[in-house]
Amino acid sequence: NIEKLSDLEKLAVLGRGNSGTVYKVRHKRSSSIFALKTLRFDRNSTIIRQQAGREAEILRRVDSPYVVQCHAVFDSEDDLYFAMEHMERGSLHDVLLVHRILPEDVISGVARCILNGLQYLHEKQIVHGDIKPSNLLINAEGVVKIADFGVSRVVVGKHDSYETYMGTCAYMSPERIDPERWDGNVDHGFAGDVWSLGVVVLECLAGHYPLIGCGEKPDWAALVCAICFGERLQMPKSASSRIQSFVRRCLEKDWKKRGTVGELLDHPFVTQISFESRHGYLLVWIQAVKEFRLDNKMENLRANGSDDVN
Ligand code: ATP
Ligand code: MG
Repeated sequence: NIEKLSDLEKLAVLGRGNSGTVYKVRHKRSSSIFALKTLRFDRNSTIIRQQAGREAEILRRVDSPYVVQCHAVFDSEDDLYFAMEHMERGSLHDVLLVHRILPEDVISGVARCILNGLQYLHEKQIVHGDIKPSNLLINAEGVVKIADFGVSRVVVGKHDSYETYMGTCAYMSPERIDPERWDGNVDHGFAGDVWSLGVVVLECLAGHYPLIGCGEKPDWAALVCAICFGERLQMPKSASSRIQSFVRRCLEKDWKKRGTVGELLDHPFVTQISFESRHGYLLVWIQAVKEFRLDNKMENLRANGSDDVN
């Protein structure tokens, strides 16, 4: 039980996001390790604070082996802190930085974990809204869990405006990007998470962000164009028909025709590879990442010269 922030001692920087820094911390009494996400506020920024409050509320309601657990939330004048489950092997983003391309067996395992997490969230009427490689974290057993509810929100009805949907454009579905396709239907949100999963799976297969040619530096207009009007998907020639069909079901532009989480959990791409082989593969693939992260991030912390959280 973490009672107060000063119970935690900083050990290293795990990463930095748009909203703040994530530290590896040790609970002084129990010696348990956690990840501490800090969100810094402008004192006057009530909107961000409200958003963070929502995030905390959602996190407290969540309890799934495929969603990163939040153990405590602390509020100070300028910051909000989330003590989370520490995910030893970092994010899928880190894995892709090192390996670029993953074998289909590994991708299948990753996709299955994400689908399990999404199934849990969608059953609770929670749209994640920001599925992308840096929000998919891996633990010591090679299990992938969904993290970061920065922009996810509880579906409360038809009153949410298009503007309340924010997230990372690259992984956003056509109906979220293009207001013309927006009809206020709450099921959009669930279908949007499936689209994002499709982009992630294709990225792991192709070795680069898949909706725009490799090496191109897209501007926002090009990105929106690729998502909303891009022609048939470019799949690597070596891709199996299973993974191709899976990706097509996720990246169906018309959200009403897109696969649902329930349908995709029965797809041969995720059902026909044994559980053991998937997790085993993932661990082998990410081994190199561990060393990479430790080197970089300890360096990072030393440069900043901080020790305790307070
Ligand atoms: P955004 O601000 O849009 O969410 P982001 O996902 O890159 O961007 P953070 O969620 O703050 O930013 O996370 C930054 C990095 O910190 C992640 O990419 C991951 O490497 C690391 N990280 C985050 N949470 C944990 C955790 N619970 N355990 C281990 N590492 C984590
Ligand atoms: Mg994140």
